[in-house]
Amino acid sequence: MHVVRTIAELRTLRRKLSDTVGLVPTMGYLHEGHLALVRQARRENAAVIVSIYVNPSQFGAGEDFGAYPRDFDRDLELLQKEGTDIAFAPPDDEMYPPVFSSWVDVEKVTERLEGASRPGHFRGVATIVAKLFNIVQPTKAYFGQKDAQQVMVIKRMAADLNMDLEVVIVPTVRESDGLAMSSRNTYLSPEERQAASILFKALALAQRLTRDGEKDAEAIRRRMVALIQKEPLARLDYVSIADAETLEELDSLDRPAVASLAVRIGETRLIDNLPLG
Ligand code: AMP
Repeated sequence: MHVVRTIAELRTLRRKLSDTVGLVPTMGYLHEGHLALVRQARRENAAVIVSIYVNPSQFGAGEDFGAYPRDFDRDLELLQKEGTDIAFAPPDDEMYPPVFSSWVDVEKVTERLEGASRPGHFRGVATIVAKLFNIVQPTKAYFGQKDAQQVMVIKRMAADLNMDLEVVIVPTVRESDGLAMSSRNTYLSPEERQAASILFKALALAQRLTRDGEKDAEAIRRRMVALIQKEPLARLDYVSIADAETLEELDSLDRPAVASLAVRIGETRLIDNLPLG
């Protein structure tokens, strides 16, 4: 496995790859969720490139950029075991030199949910992913369903800007109690970790109500909110029952929908989602 720090070196290696290339963008501190993306990329491509970069521009002021967990040596070991060809881990001044002044702004789909709660977040995400696409020129790029809105933003960007690659979505990998794996789960104390299962419980409730024939989206939101409010360590940011294509909030479940939520457990903000219908 090549461990690459510069864009120039990445490009030199990339030019030697004539067959398919899968890219998996990550912020490191890898877990089984990330590795599911790497494994699918491994199955579907001749070469696999994984980026490890904690992108400062997608963190807001007062968010956890400085505290974000990092363990580069462990990440490299895991990637090596999965048969990764190139780990790309650029320093900040390689990705954002002092003269840097161009940004990718995806409209509409970024207005709600994470975009509303974290202003500027998706501008940072779209910009870094566009840069990685331009640097790596992958055949396919792999993203987790865990970050459902991020997937929509990247698909929109790739289509709007005619980026010549396929965006592949990989199902969310969960712990045994349903909690979606996340590098941020490491922030949780043992009590908070137990409380964090409330996210999946609320999503599973929405799925159950939908299966039982409930069509009233507001009734489902109310039941989810009531459940989350019963957990003393949880503070709700949002719950959403939205159109799976546009993320517009729904009144009635008359088309494919996605339930999503953001909840603070102590100081840790967690997100998750499940499809409905
Ligand atoms: P991150 O390092 O958190 O930026 O995540 C890198 C990629 O891994 C993103 O496409 C995430 O959606 C994906 N990912 C993170 N957690 C999971 C999970 N539990 N299951 C599937 N994909 C995940």
